[in-house]
Amino acid sequence: MFQKNDIVTVKIESMGNDGEGIGKADGYTLFIKDALPGDLAEVKIMKAKKQYGYARLMQILEPSGDRVEPRCPLHKKCGGCQLQALSYEKQLQYKEDKVRGHLERIGGFSNPPLLPVIGMEEPFHYRNKAQFPFGTDRYGKTVTGFYASRTHSIIPNTDCALGVAENQKILELILNFMEERQIHPYDETSGTGLLRHVLIRKGFATGELMVCLVINGQRFPGIEELADRLFEIPGMTSLTLNINRKNTNVIMGEQIIPVRGQTYITDEIGSVRYRISPLSFYQVNPVQTRKLYQTALDYAGLTGTEVVWDLYCGIGTISLFLAQNAGKVYGVEIIPDAIRDARQNAELNGISNVEFYVGKAEEVLPEKYKTEGIYADVIVVDPPRKGCDEACLTTMLRMAPKRIVYVSCDSATLARDLKILCAGGYQLEKVQPVDMFAQTAGVENVCLLSRRLSCMI
Ligand code: SAH
Repeated sequence: MFQKNDIVTVKIESMGNDGEGIGKADGYTLFIKDALPGDLAEVKIMKAKKQYGYARLMQILEPSGDRVEPRCPLHKKCGGCQLQALSYEKQLQYKEDKVRGHLERIGGFSNPPLLPVIGMEEPFHYRNKAQFPFGTDRYGKTVTGFYASRTHSIIPNTDCALGVAENQKILELILNFMEERQIHPYDETSGTGLLRHVLIRKGFATGELMVCLVINGQRFPGIEELADRLFEIPGMTSLTLNINRKNTNVIMGEQIIPVRGQTYITDEIGSVRYRISPLSFYQVNPVQTRKLYQTALDYAGLTGTEVVWDLYCGIGTISLFLAQNAGKVYGVEIIPDAIRDARQNAELNGISNVEFYVGKAEEVLPEKYKTEGIYADVIVVDPPRKGCDEACLTTMLRMAPKRIVYVSCDSATLARDLKILCAGGYQLEKVQPVDMFAQTAGVENVCLLSRRLSCMI
């Protein structure tokens, strides 16, 4: 048996759910961060369990043929990108295999109708949003960047390879301003200091930029001067403060204070315009989101008359996309602010055949079904990682829409829910993975399910 600190040589054969390399040493399975399939590596065992262990990559003896030169020199330290050293083509293959594995093992589908992943044309600089933590390095200098994997120590980096070019300019400007004015970053241990995070968002279609300073206080000294400087950057549209005085890991507080410009930016996906405020959820990769929503729209098979329910609708992004081709769309979402944005977005686009409800999908849908006997031709769901609640799935089955379109950012919970829907009378027609998160292990999916004829009798 192997023990902690043993050094072993291992050939990496596959990759796990989080992009870690997996290899076997004398039949004993090891999980190794930063190792890639095809590598022959020397590794040190850090944790040895009975059936498997975790090891650290010490040296690559023979590199995998799929390795590429990572664009970001900090990719190993930073917790953001797990796959940067793997060629993009193989990243897509990995994601397809991961989804297939979940559909087979968790969903029980023996030959799932899985399509090749829709990849990105430019797999870098695709994110429209980033939240940069501010802190102090060991020499007392104010820094910003990203948290190292599984820690809260900041790796200084103002030029993330996934973010927009403007991030660097904005962050350097803020760092310089803080030094000039002796403004201190927040310190988690003592609860002192002012600036916690800077949220930057960019509307890719409009070029509009939003900067929101998350602060441990009520005001930011010299903010008007900082605003003057920031608004020299082309595209600057919105500068706000967000107050967060709680000592927690939650990045944003609840209160937004306008400083200059609007309190939101606007973006477009296809022909729909969206107003996005600092606290609302908005997909981070707008180029791929358009492909994702278009696939969802195609799968919904709308002719202009259908009644559609969009569960977990956020700011109404999918609802408004669907409304252009539907009779009526109902959206359900748990966050009241997001529903307020959704209603405003409907108005902004002159779309009147939508209605939004605030509440949990698993409560609103059964309640409406019980009291009003609501109907649906098509139901679209786009739940968070944990997937749909069983009460929601059961009501969907009772409502028996012709088609269900399931959008998911977690293929494991997706497979679990698809199994329930298929046992309840649906046929899985297509699974379309879309790469929204290049360089990371994440993958989004859109699935089409249709009601089997036998359950219409
Ligand atoms: N479809 C939207 C949002 C998807 S993200 C888009 O593409 O932009 C998932 C959304 O589900 C989030 O807005 C989250 O607030 C919401 N949510 C989480 N749990 C929920 C629940 N139980 N019922 C309804 N909405 C929920």
